[in-house]
Amino acid sequence: AAAAKMHDYLNQLVEAYAPAARQGRVATYIPELAKVDPDGIGICVRTAEGLYCAGDAETKFTIQSVSKPMALILALMDWGPDKIFEKVGKEPTGDPFNSMIRLETHEKHKPFNPMINAGAISIAAMIKGDSTAHKIERLLGFVRKIAHNPNIEIDQRVYLSEKETGHRNRSIAHFLRAMKNFDQDPDEVLEVYFSQCSISLNCSDLSNMAMVLALDGKCYVTGEQLFPVEYAKIAKAYMVTCGMYDGSGEFAIHVGLPAKSGVGGGIMAVSPGQMGIGVYGPALDPKGNSVVGIKMLKALSDTYNLNIF
Ligand code: GLN
Repeated sequence: AAAAKMHDYLNQLVEAYAPAARQGRVATYIPELAKVDPDGIGICVRTAEGLYCAGDAETKFTIQSVSKPMALILALMDWGPDKIFEKVGKEPTGDPFNSMIRLETHEKHKPFNPMINAGAISIAAMIKGDSTAHKIERLLGFVRKIAHNPNIEIDQRVYLSEKETGHRNRSIAHFLRAMKNFDQDPDEVLEVYFSQCSISLNCSDLSNMAMVLALDGKCYVTGEQLFPVEYAKIAKAYMVTCGMYDGSGEFAIHVGLPAKSGVGGGIMAVSPGQMGIGVYGPALDPKGNSVVGIKMLKALSDTYNLNIF
């Protein structure tokens, strides 16, 4: 009965908020993203009881910045927190995700946090591997494992589209290299970054990843610890303070969940200990966050009392 209720509720959410997609716009700065249906809307909730989905739950989209907490956790496993915090800070910026203004003003030219592009590029340089291809393989493998889906692939069209037009990210990477944040070839680091952003998945994959974070790294099927509890806590702390970029404060007040958005339209949100949530809606607000995604998360948080504060 509870399952049927959750399912009905999610269907109602999709129906109620679908028209709100018109308040947003799909990302166009990556040309391939401009081609998606702006009216897409989907939600999946993973609990201990099962998976509940509504709307375009099967529709694939690129993970974009939702990859950032995952890459961070892998880099933490590769190096440990001390080394990672030498490269990226722990503070929100209040600036847009692709901003670089604080890179120059920071005394050590260190990205403020790993949820903005600069910090994520710095983290991409920390992923271990024998070659660029191997680093990408490791990151993709990690996402597949946490999402419990071995079929997740990289969308080559989006990857090429980002690579061709990513001049801003290129400038960030070269600036970080100039400031010795890393010593690899910046273009190779960007290959890793553009590839991780182009991982193609759906809402249920996001809800599965969120459930693992909700359980502090534990697999909800086998109980296996997939990554250390401490790293789950670091990722969730960053998600609360920086996961929605310069909309993180507002999101914390109105929704109150650790979450990470991406310009592909996905948001991964975590209800600690109990729920993993994935939402999709490619029409974005001016900060690059899914309009219908935020609305559905707010409603879900209100209805089920999920606000962690
Ligand atoms: N690939 C995108 C970029 O680098 C990711 C940004 C995002 O999802 N906010 O611009």
